[in-house]
Amino acid sequence: MTHYLITGGAGFIGSHLSEALLARGDSVTVVDDLSTGRLENILALKGYPRFRFAIETITNETVMDRLVSECDVIVHLAAAVGVKLIVTDPVRTIETNVMGTEEVLRVARRYRRHVVIASTSEIYGKNEKVPFAEEDDSVFGSTTRSRWAYATSKALDEFLALAYHRSLGLPVLVARFFNTVGPRQRSRYGMVIPRFVRQALSGEPITVYGDGKQTRCFCNVRDVVAAVLGLMDAPQAVGQVYNIGSQEEISIRELAERVRSLAGSASSIVFVPYDQAYAQGFEDMQRRVPDIAKIRAATGWVPRIPLDETLREVIAFCRASPAVEVDEG
Ligand code: UDP
Repeated sequence: MTHYLITGGAGFIGSHLSEALLARGDSVTVVDDLSTGRLENILALKGYPRFRFAIETITNETVMDRLVSECDVIVHLAAAVGVKLIVTDPVRTIETNVMGTEEVLRVARRYRRHVVIASTSEIYGKNEKVPFAEEDDSVFGSTTRSRWAYATSKALDEFLALAYHRSLGLPVLVARFFNTVGPRQRSRYGMVIPRFVRQALSGEPITVYGDGKQTRCFCNVRDVVAAVLGLMDAPQAVGQVYNIGSQEEISIRELAERVRSLAGSASSIVFVPYDQAYAQGFEDMQRRVPDIAKIRAATGWVPRIPLDETLREVIAFCRASPAVEVDEG
């Protein structure tokens, strides 16, 4: 039995990961300040005797020192997430992502704990290569465009984590999540699938940004959790960076149509210019496909859940919890 400390464990991915670890018999402590995470996400976990929860910020060194000393492995998921939040609150994005990771690594070193650092496909920025392999370049835009604050802050997290490994021997691995989706993901922070599903279910127009020709690959959170579990159990993954994502590519326009039809909705589909949706001069990525050969070679992992099944799950979840996101558009 291993004791995991999950930062951001009340969030979307963290709550699913915590559940999977508890279900297989491990101990889990979640630390979350509930800034974007929700207590509802971890209500079901209270039934497990080996589950503990601290409502606390990860920059509280006293608390982190105690929690880290008591665990074997840290999965660091606490971060400012979502393009909308990043554009509207850049100070919080930068401070949370940089200072939080610094704190986690510093304390992990004190106790020589294994650490998984969650990163993002935003790391590739506007590189136009398809698909993205782990060694490919980060291509970021100007610092005057706040969108790039997120990618830059996560790039710094990765540099720091890899430096702790190389220079100080800390056992660290970096997981780069591509678009992850499933029940509990919130529409409030701009993520496209929960937004489209909420819009379709309420009969409101489905808002496609730009011309909708941009594509993404959406990976079910259960597949993502399986990938993380596999990497944590693979000794050769230490000191390495891995892409985790689906390769089923879909345009955002087609996604809108797919959601509308699976939800049996009569919503219209409207096209909203980027400047109106985000901020003046917003830069979107046209395609984002992961190369997953590296994780496959290390652990045998491949994503298994098709997008339609994921969309049905999200639709069912949103139907069952309409009140939860009533304030969100
Ligand atoms: N998007 C959209 N309508 C929305 C929200 C997002 O068309 O209501 C688009 C967004 O511009 C991007 C894609 O959907 O091209 C995925 O956006 P998301 O924020 O989910 O993730 P990203 O891939 O941008 O990190």
